[in-house]
Amino acid sequence: MQGRIVPANAEWTAEAGNLIRAGALVAFATETVYGLGADATNGEAVARIYETKGRPTFNPLIVHVLGIEQAVIIGTFSPVARMLTEAFWPGPLTLVVPRLETTTVTELVSAGLPTVAIRAPAHPLARALLKEAHRPIAAPSANRSGRVSPTRAEHVASDLGDKIALILDGGPASVGLESTVIGFVNDRPVLLRPGAIAAEAIEDVISDRLSRHTETGEQLSSPGQLRSHYAPNASMRLNAETWQPDEAVLAFGKVSERPSRKTINLSPSGDLVEAAANLFASLRALDQSGASVIAVTPIPTHGLGEAINDRLERAAAPRD
Ligand code: AMP
Ligand code: MG
Repeated sequence: MQGRIVPANAEWTAEAGNLIRAGALVAFATETVYGLGADATNGEAVARIYETKGRPTFNPLIVHVLGIEQAVIIGTFSPVARMLTEAFWPGPLTLVVPRLETTTVTELVSAGLPTVAIRAPAHPLARALLKEAHRPIAAPSANRSGRVSPTRAEHVASDLGDKIALILDGGPASVGLESTVIGFVNDRPVLLRPGAIAAEAIEDVISDRLSRHTETGEQLSSPGQLRSHYAPNASMRLNAETWQPDEAVLAFGKVSERPSRKTINLSPSGDLVEAAANLFASLRALDQSGASVIAVTPIPTHGLGEAINDRLERAAAPRD
């Protein structure tokens, strides 16, 4: 049944919702482009999105919700953010807002950032799937990294067909352009990515000029490279084979039982999907243990290991 294109009728949509809840990946039509969806609260399912797209880095993903009620238990919406949702939701507008401490959305969705990108799609199929799944759905475009975004079910099948459970065919995507992404700097909206909703339409609603991310410094541009990406206070030592008892240890796979102040194993069985799912929360927990050094045991560089190592190298890089 792998990668099967199915009609987006009630039966298949219900089945797709079950698959999402069970941790599988489902491709589905939205008004922008086809999305590769997973339960946003399931770390391993989200890790499989990155694995399937073959992304060498963890770019933050957009979380899809039915509307503001579901969004406000994930992130904090200021009055201006709310105003934008009232004007453009459901629709192709994504808002990047601070994550709530209490959200069950996995940190992997935010790629370690303190923010989360949220949008309420208008496409009836996407909405039906969200209703069936009873979960927020993390979904980037359903293409392999570096390929163009798919606007038809057949595009998804030819690109990723053997890697996903189901492709819900909702016909050609009507907009065929990605959502507009808006972030906030000191509560002022900033255009992070131009998209299906024109900047002018947003300016009409906020009665102000919309700043472009190029004007706000590197603070919000190019999230994959962001400095504001969570950087631990502890210094990091990669590819560590030994460690001191007062060092914290971030381990992977089988490691010799050496005493340390605190050890977290990303995946004792050596599973890179599990390791990716645990990465950001583990890094944070070890940092909060107060150790001045986090020793990281070697992690393979294939598959998701590439993105995991990329993130660890950034965390280990000298900072000014
Ligand atoms: P795609 O999933 O391919 O539509 O791309 C998602 C877009 O949203 C990318 O441009 C991301 O960089 C952006 N994005 C998602 N989450 C965040 C975030 N927390 N901060 C800034 N940009 C984000
Ligand atoms: Mg894309």
